[in-house]
Amino acid sequence: MIIKYYSTNLNSPQVSFRNALLEGLAPDGGLYMPEHLPVIDRKEIEAFPSLDYPNIAFRILRTLLRDEVESEILQSLCNDAYNFDVPVENIHGRTYILRLDRGPTLSFKDFAARMMARLMNYFISAEGSRYTILTATSGDTGSAVANAFHGLENIDVIVLFPFTEVTEYQRKQMTTLDKNISAIAIDGKFDDCQSLVKKAFLDPSLAQCSLTSANSINIGRLLPQSVYYFYSWSRVIRDISESVIFSVPSGNYGNLMGGIIARELGLPVKKFIISANENNEVPEYLRTGTYNIINPSINCISSAMNVGHPSNLARIVALYGGIMNKEGIILKAPDLRRMQKDFSGFSVTDDETRKTIGDFFRLYGSLIEPHGAVAWKGMQMFRDLNPDYADDKQLFISLETAHPSKFREEIVKILGFPPPVPEQLARIDALKENFVKMENNYDMLKRFILRHHKQ
Ligand SMILES: *Cc1c(COP(=O)(O)O)cnc(C)c1O
Repeated sequence: MIIKYYSTNLNSPQVSFRNALLEGLAPDGGLYMPEHLPVIDRKEIEAFPSLDYPNIAFRILRTLLRDEVESEILQSLCNDAYNFDVPVENIHGRTYILRLDRGPTLSFKDFAARMMARLMNYFISAEGSRYTILTATSGDTGSAVANAFHGLENIDVIVLFPFTEVTEYQRKQMTTLDKNISAIAIDGKFDDCQSLVKKAFLDPSLAQCSLTSANSINIGRLLPQSVYYFYSWSRVIRDISESVIFSVPSGNYGNLMGGIIARELGLPVKKFIISANENNEVPEYLRTGTYNIINPSINCISSAMNVGHPSNLARIVALYGGIMNKEGIILKAPDLRRMQKDFSGFSVTDDETRKTIGDFFRLYGSLIEPHGAVAWKGMQMFRDLNPDYADDKQLFISLETAHPSKFREEIVKILGFPPPVPEQLARIDALKENFVKMENNYDMLKRFILRHHKQ
């Protein structure tokens, strides 16, 4: 029986995974959610400790996509997507750091983007069609998307970025790929790039070009993010019933949704610690039961978490029986008591984040970056409030979501030396850049897309 996906606004028909993946947003503006999740067989989970990452990914995704993707193909997509290390590092007692920073763009976004890209390519190829993903970026998302789709046969990517507003490294991540990836440097700001893209999506004369977007709220990004929760747990457990507390650095709460999906699939999670930066709207909501958007969001050094109204919150509210609309208004209250039992929320300031990076290095000789430091500090705050979780008894896993080398300047300021440069970063310097420079002019973009489509 295939798993159906419903809209969190409850006003659209249920669809298959394939349709939820290719549509992105439901017609009623809601987000797609699985209508039920099967519990993975205990026997199957018992085998996880002896399997590697691609094989655990395969077994979990097979449970979710059983009748929509052929097994052999799914196995090869998993092998292909997850060809990098996923270190689980012991820090002290039963406390670990999960490093999700070894993918091609050095952030945890690679885990989702790489599988979503391959699944899209699979469905599109099976139908004999060809799509072009058009996306505007201020730096990070565009490079993760471009890298994830790089080399796939039936999808092209055109990425627009503001020429003077991205870092040299961000630019190189988009302009050294070639093959099916085209990069356009716009003489303008990020907002200009976004307006150009929006105009293209609404232009009927481009309808023949099969333009689509790789949206960050796509359900195709959440399912693969459940895998590293199972994986990290399976590396370090004493026995198969050992429960774990995760600390998740959160911005749009997609990472946390992956963890919640893992729990629904049968992972023994005792609690999730929600670690936010100064954008504390969700910890405050859990504490008070009142949800207030932070607008504009607060600029913190853990920049990927500067979100004042997380796009995945409506999904979490839905799972707990409530309804939240796009504007963040709660139309039906979820079971707040149960949420407070399952989640503990903490807000971490920039000063605390910097101090945590310094203390962590001095105490353990190991480097973390701002997002991972927010998670680590949130976990410490939780422990201060709950001293009964002894260090040698309760398993804790804190998530590190980016590589420290991406925050070189901040780390030099805190520690006085730069983080080591990983191969992905070093290699890029030797590669040839290839991109088009373009005025902020829609007709020029349109001509580019039409020419591109004919090739
Ligand atoms: C996107 C991102 C986050 C936040 O993840 P969400 O799924 O939006 O909560 C945290 N850290 C890094 C490095 C990120 O890129």
